[in-house]
Amino acid sequence: MTQLFAAIDAGGALRFVGEVGRGADCGCLCPECASPLVARQGASNEWHFAHEAAQERPECGAGAANMLRRLIAEHLQARSEGPGLPLPAYRQRVAIVRALVNLHEDVQWGAQVMGAWAWQVRAAAHEAVAQARLDTGAGLQLFVSVDGEEPPAPEAEMAQLVFRCRTPPAPALRERQAALQHIEQHGELVWLHHPDTLGRVADARERLEARSRRIYGNWLALSDQAAGSAAAEHAPAPLFYGPGAPVAPEQAPRFACAPGHAPNVSFTFYRVSPTEAWLLYLLEREGPVDWRNAADKRYVLAPYPVPFDGWEHALPASVGVADLAAGLVRCTAFLNAVTYLSRCATLTRSGRDPAAFQGL
Ligand SMILES: [Zn+2]
Repeated sequence: MTQLFAAIDAGGALRFVGEVGRGADCGCLCPECASPLVARQGASNEWHFAHEAAQERPECGAGAANMLRRLIAEHLQARSEGPGLPLPAYRQRVAIVRALVNLHEDVQWGAQVMGAWAWQVRAAAHEAVAQARLDTGAGLQLFVSVDGEEPPAPEAEMAQLVFRCRTPPAPALRERQAALQHIEQHGELVWLHHPDTLGRVADARERLEARSRRIYGNWLALSDQAAGSAAAEHAPAPLFYGPGAPVAPEQAPRFACAPGHAPNVSFTFYRVSPTEAWLLYLLEREGPVDWRNAADKRYVLAPYPVPFDGWEHALPASVGVADLAAGLVRCTAFLNAVTYLSRCATLTRSGRDPAAFQGL
């Protein structure tokens, strides 16, 4: 959308092209450059405002999107001061991914505004149109996003809510009432972030950790019982992906401390002693086979963050064989490695970025 459906009158109010006099009688100014505008209300063209003598500047192109954002902000402000602006429940998925587990729990809670909103209806695209305090103890920023504009990345300490809407079709942009009706019908309030002020996320994470510890405990007991090899055949397939959507392999970040790792994998970190730590991960496949579905998955252990003294002899042969050229240990079987390291590790962590294990 580039045509200007609304402009600013002499009093600074937002006016629709169908609500003003025709041509130069409209008495409106460009919201971006403040030049006088003419209202084009032709029979064939979509109605719109244009600059006198077509004196559009480059910055005027953003005018329509800014007018729509301001219209939405004014509408939300009117609702907050009149019938009310109830907020939807906040929902979040809490997940932990380890070598043997991929667990999640959905948590949700209600959050409503306490006291008055502070409105900034002329805010720019990346700025909040309103701020308020929530009854959950968090501060709230409200953004307006038109046609999929991305609001700024959430601040950890602030709750952030966005009102998403598409540009109304041209016939709905002649008059305020039709535009507002479209916004009411098609716009929605969506949470971007809410800090864990009530501790619900921490509680869920603790429950998931407890489940994870039980699963690992069961696995180690099973492995003892069946002397490893028989149990390994019946163990669940290792889960190494998530959370978060995988990106295209050529865009996935690569990490020097994990030579040859597959794109999008999770790394499991094992601290064995103050000088010995390992990264367990899946190796990238060579050739045309889809590494995600291939049955023959190859796991390795890399000394972390760099090869330490004696790393090539630190692990028993049942876990893997050192590849001196590659600087890693090739696992004989994934579950042998997990079983061995789960027993002797003093600390275990998982994540998509090995930098998170620095100093652990
Ligand atoms: Zn202009």
